[in-house]
Amino acid sequence: MKPAPFDYVAARSVEEATALLAEGGGAARPLAGGQSLVPLLNFRLIEPARLIDITRLRALDHVTETAHGLRIGALTRHRTIETSSILRRHLPIVAHAMTQVGHLAIRNRGTAGGSLCHADPAAEWPMLALLLDARITALSREGRRAIAARDFFRGPLSTALAPAELVSEIEIPALPAGAVWGFEELARRAGDFALCAAGVVLAAQNGRCSAARIALAGVGGTPLRASAAEALLLGETLGPGVIAAAADAAAAASDPPDDLHGSAAYRRHLAAVLTRRALAAAARDLA
Ligand code: FAD
Repeated sequence: MKPAPFDYVAARSVEEATALLAEGGGAARPLAGGQSLVPLLNFRLIEPARLIDITRLRALDHVTETAHGLRIGALTRHRTIETSSILRRHLPIVAHAMTQVGHLAIRNRGTAGGSLCHADPAAEWPMLALLLDARITALSREGRRAIAARDFFRGPLSTALAPAELVSEIEIPALPAGAVWGFEELARRAGDFALCAAGVVLAAQNGRCSAARIALAGVGGTPLRASAAEALLLGETLGPGVIAAAADAAAAASDPPDDLHGSAAYRRHLAAVLTRRALAAAARDLA
């Protein structure tokens, strides 16, 4: 199919982009990598009156180290993040997870901000943002606000962003000292969206778990942070028994869809298996 007719403007600055979005009054949409927006247009699932092309806004394309963590510009491509030496040093889980996003051609165009704003519950970026306690900066003509990832995702393809807001960057706080990670994903074919993905971060002191984070993608309307499962790990020695109990608790907290890609029961089973594997891999690195 072909999109409904729309007007196209290439913004020359962030200020111009936010002014154009405000002027559009909800009928204008930013165009970043176009890897999700263009299919939606082609299927006429959305019919915006105007596209604001933000791909020339170099100020939004960066990976920056700060005293407290990292800032990633909204226009930073998945492939840039996958290959960034800064990400590989400070947040290798993010660089690794990017290898699972679609195919190389998609990763060369798709952006971190576009993925967060598209808010596909099976996508890697929303799950990583939740796992890493990220804050998402939104700009509008009225100013700037930071939205915690836990408040950003409202449902499938739905976020807390107002129509006139432009995401400018993602702030990711530094992980606890000595933190290790695990990431497991299953898709039907290489490059497909995940049927389920699990990301974990662990830290330990004196042989006992001092920090535990578990997030899942593909098993609900939004990415899921498995808080009850995290609580089971804190203060424990991370052996197979406690890891299995936490993985089961993570799966129990999920509310997976039942569709042609997989039944809800299968996805819940995957949530337990992938969480257990991710936790076991991370725990091995703690030893
Ligand atoms: P666009 O498509 O340009 O925009 C997406 C939405 O976000 C639009 O509503 C747009 O208006 C809005 N938007 C974009 N940038 C901003 C901004 N800065 N501020 C406010 N709103 C903004 N993704 C995965 O995570 N995992 C996968 O396995 C995967 N597989 C894919 C396979 C195929 C075949 C395809 C075509 C895509 C796949 N994707 C996958 C999607 C891909 O990651 C997209 O890049 C991503 O979802 C959207 O990023 P984009 O930059 O292309 O955004």
